Amino acid sequence: ELPKLAEDDPQAAALKYVHQTPDEAKHCANCALIQGNDGDEWRPCALFPGKVVNANGWCSAYAPKP
Ligand code: SF4
Repeated sequence: ELPKLAEDDPQAAALKYVHQTPDEAKHCANCALIQGNDGDEWRPCALFPGKVVNANGWCSAYAPKP
């Protein structure tokens, strides 16, 4: 299992990543860059190789799934 991305990780902080989105309409599980399996609480993200992000998280690179 991959390690969880920390909010104070420099790359995460640069993109203002948080484990809990400030806007429920925009969160990692419905972002175009999320990877892994629907329903998992922690999932890989194309922007943070080798780490997993919270499905309910958010960062400034958020892009809605097409
Ligand atoms: Fe979440 Fe940002 Fe990755 Fe999208 S790009 S899945 S908002 S961490």
